[in-house]
Amino acid sequence: MINLTEEDAGLAVLEKLTSNVKQIQDAVLKEILTCDANTEYLRSFLHGSSDKELFKKNVPVGTYEDFKPYIERVVNGESSEIISGKPITGFTLTSGTSGGKQKLIPLNNKYLENARLLFDLRYLVLSKHVDGHNEGKGLHLIFLKPASKTLSGLPASYATTHFMKSDYYVKNLPSYWDTSSTSPSEIKFCPDNKQSLYCHLLCGLVLRDEVTRVCANFASILVQGITFLENFWKEMCSNIRSGQLSDWITDSCKDSVSMILGGPNPQLSDIIEDICNQKSWKGIIPQLWPKIKFIECIVTGQMAQHVPLLEFYVNDLPLVSPNYASSEAMFGVNLNPLCKPQDVSYTFLPNMSYFEFIPIGEVNDTIVDLVNVNLGRYYELVVTNYAGLHRYRVGDILQVTGFYNSAPQFKFIRRQNVVLSVYLEATTEEDLLKGVTRASQVLKSSYIMLRDFTCYPHVSDIPGHYVLYWELKGNKDDGINELDTNMLVECCSVVEKSLGALYKRYRSKEGSIGALEIRVVQQGAFDVLMEYFISQGASLAQYKTPRCIKSSEAIQVLENRVFARFSSEKLP
Ligand code: AMP
Repeated sequence: MINLTEEDAGLAVLEKLTSNVKQIQDAVLKEILTCDANTEYLRSFLHGSSDKELFKKNVPVGTYEDFKPYIERVVNGESSEIISGKPITGFTLTSGTSGGKQKLIPLNNKYLENARLLFDLRYLVLSKHVDGHNEGKGLHLIFLKPASKTLSGLPASYATTHFMKSDYYVKNLPSYWDTSSTSPSEIKFCPDNKQSLYCHLLCGLVLRDEVTRVCANFASILVQGITFLENFWKEMCSNIRSGQLSDWITDSCKDSVSMILGGPNPQLSDIIEDICNQKSWKGIIPQLWPKIKFIECIVTGQMAQHVPLLEFYVNDLPLVSPNYASSEAMFGVNLNPLCKPQDVSYTFLPNMSYFEFIPIGEVNDTIVDLVNVNLGRYYELVVTNYAGLHRYRVGDILQVTGFYNSAPQFKFIRRQNVVLSVYLEATTEEDLLKGVTRASQVLKSSYIMLRDFTCYPHVSDIPGHYVLYWELKGNKDDGINELDTNMLVECCSVVEKSLGALYKRYRSKEGSIGALEIRVVQQGAFDVLMEYFISQGASLAQYKTPRCIKSSEAIQVLENRVFARFSSEKLP
């Protein structure tokens, strides 16, 4: 592991990594191929060789499905050597909400070591841009789940849980890391999400004068936290007033939360009540936590839809989107943490894994190396990692936005898969996000905001049509008094206008696609949807609302909460 003992040394490491991209990438590939040459998987393509050219020529680019049979054999007790030269020590679980089904990804210490370096760098970058970024305490909305065991006895858990339980997190933390948290670790390990979120927020309120940052993995978790606070602040204030924690908090974290609560504190309870009692929650975050300097959570990709709501709650506070990573590998860090959410790019770190890129929409779609990507172009990311995934399609589409030294910087564009199709058109997540973002501007004039959305292709009638489920939220006071039909019909049209040429053609001339429909669901419906996905094995910490749902149970969760329907009235 690279030893980052001091900030300067750490930043020097960053310079070195980003200045020697080609050499480092070649060395990474050599190391992986030498180590994995005799695995059953690679032997069939390379016959024991670790030559780069042969690797490029013979090893196919694959998806999870190609690796799954090997992974399942290891899960069931066969030696990890069938796929990885380095022993596999466990499995990370993907969120299952970013790209379909939940997957098991082989894990070893190299992943944790890389995660540690990424964290080191992200803190160093932050320390360069935010004075005293690690002073005071952080309100960290972190949810760690106990690992389950595979048949072979290996632990399977979410990446964050593996990492935070490992020596790479527990030992030798540098001073610039902001581990100081308002939540005792028992809350982070509490298996009940509701109790855990309540206690996180309650401790954050009690220690409000010390909080300098509010952090979560993803923007969606912060939005969920604020919505939860809207529902529970009165109860929290009553706990603070009496010094007594609510009875329904029964988890073993309750003792440490009671300690933080201390005795009765009516004065603090009054202050928080005054703030929360305001009609509008605009700028509520800096009012509740007056020393806050920034918010840290991923706001790119699927998370971009939460930005308007977050900005409403945080006023002008910076939203720091720190890094880009997955259960398969670490990718990059945001070197300009105070930039606007729409300008975020991630600088790839060449020592994390071996990266390749499939050009999108070009005649010559030859896969290229990290050093050979071109400015402005779009690519699909392919990774060869240290735990047996060779030329694995991550499923993310990125655009090159610049270079830091010789390291390319990428903007996250979207997941690779098509999300919606009811006829012959192919609507991507990006198309959909663009359309919904434009439509949500129409709402602005009426003090209504979009809290969350998803969609499904309604194909049981002919012609099929797109159904968008929208959860709306008033930004003046808690409720939405009435919905303006004209406005919502207009929203349907605006989404349709933003969709692709094929959609418009089939919808307009041929009538092969019916009018797009928005179904407005009751407040809290998307929380219930999340609970449904969590009950099916998704993790709260990594949860991302699926942009398109196809399971009939999940659709039913929303369908049961629909209270108004609107359809587009003109052709796009
Ligand atoms: P998981 O494997 O469940 O951790 O999910 C990883 C996926 O989350 C990535 O492949 C991306 O699609 C998404 N993701 C992770 N980090 C970011 C980021 N900074 N911006 C946008 N999407 C991200």
